[in-house]
Amino acid sequence: MNAPTNDELFARAQAAIPGGVNSPVRAFRSVGGTPRFLVSARGPYVTDAEGREYVDLVAGWGPAILGHADPRVIEAVTDAAARGLSFGASTPAETELAELVEARVGPVEKLRLVSTGTEATMSAIRLARGFTGRDLLVKFAGHYHGHSDGLLAEAGSGLATFALPGSAGVPADIAALTLVVPYNDLDALAAVFAELGDRIAAVITEAAAANMGVVPPVAGFNRAVVELAHAHGALVISDEVLTGFRVSAAGWWGLEDGTDAAYTPDLMTFGKVIGGGMPVAALGGRAEIMEQLAPLGPVYQAGTLSGNPVAVAAGVATLRAADASVYRSLDATAETISDAVSAALDAAGVAHRVQHAGSLFSFVFGDEAAAAPVRDYATVQRQESWRYAPFFHAMLDAGISLPPSVFEAWFVTAAHDDTAIARVLEALPAAARAAASA
Ligand code: PMP
Repeated sequence: MNAPTNDELFARAQAAIPGGVNSPVRAFRSVGGTPRFLVSARGPYVTDAEGREYVDLVAGWGPAILGHADPRVIEAVTDAAARGLSFGASTPAETELAELVEARVGPVEKLRLVSTGTEATMSAIRLARGFTGRDLLVKFAGHYHGHSDGLLAEAGSGLATFALPGSAGVPADIAALTLVVPYNDLDALAAVFAELGDRIAAVITEAAAANMGVVPPVAGFNRAVVELAHAHGALVISDEVLTGFRVSAAGWWGLEDGTDAAYTPDLMTFGKVIGGGMPVAALGGRAEIMEQLAPLGPVYQAGTLSGNPVAVAAGVATLRAADASVYRSLDATAETISDAVSAALDAAGVAHRVQHAGSLFSFVFGDEAAAAPVRDYATVQRQESWRYAPFFHAMLDAGISLPPSVFEAWFVTAAHDDTAIARVLEALPAAARAAASA
């Protein structure tokens, strides 16, 4: 019997699962067509149910820095699994993971493990509120911090406003506790602090924004955010779920550490790479604040699967293996691929800009983006986004799997070797022409 096709699997999935997916962007709604149902992944490749192999530039949305199914990680996970899947008790490996993070990321004095990035940011916000005794939260437009009630809020561009919920089912009273400010706009942030500074518990910010495509902070922005917040007795939560241990051994914080832009957030959140492809995320920061968490302090936070031994084994093995040579490889591959995409788009006459945050990159289409670096969500939204779907599908047809939305970063792995990279480069001219004629 023939293996079922992606179309058949998607039809069956849609009958059993809302939209056929367990996380919305997987449904290909913004690029159209049928999502590929993946059955295996190795190194820089993923394989779908029809047996077709793709060079993967999604990397599980970030975790797979070493490449898929790295033998060191698989061995650690299999060993851990053979000793039992979940104890609901402390394990030695949890401490090792916390120590690995604390050794790399200076502001993290204490770390608490959770299972998803959503949990990490949700708990960090509760902790900031508990510590400061204040309720309001500031976030930046276009930043994504998971799907908890208070964090889906976005504002229209322009002035900061009390946010609209951003999703059905979020009570207006909860959304009203989140203030949304345009990214990279210190004047707008200062205005919010001037008006409401004594009620603001924290500013939460992606260390470098990569969930509206890549939009790095302008030089010194993170530092200025910390200074402004501290001047008003508020905390800063630097969300490194996506950038942490990916853009450098110490994440985005590590790229700015030791420069004029160096900054010390009060709390940080991690996910993705910290779990090496398994469900691990974390919040960490200043001991004085972290010790407000239960059982030491009054801020409650817990989890049956927190610090799960199999998941933690994957995280420890990944961080141990992620040495300087891994980060050099990620940087070099990101540069080769992003340069080549840009050259192909130029050759096809497609106005665009490539945006970088370390080895994360993405493209913004149109003359406005081509004219100047993109710094905020409003500009990202004004781009010629329709050019991405035909580009994406031309690449997919050629065996290259890109993020299925123009508003997502591209991810490389240290396993992208010359053969995999050459396949990407070969596919680009036709894809760029498809983008040009859209
Ligand atoms: N914060 C950031 C910066 C993220 O990129 C994400 C996920 N893309 C999250 C939080 C939420 O993480 P999770 O999907 O694990 O809940």
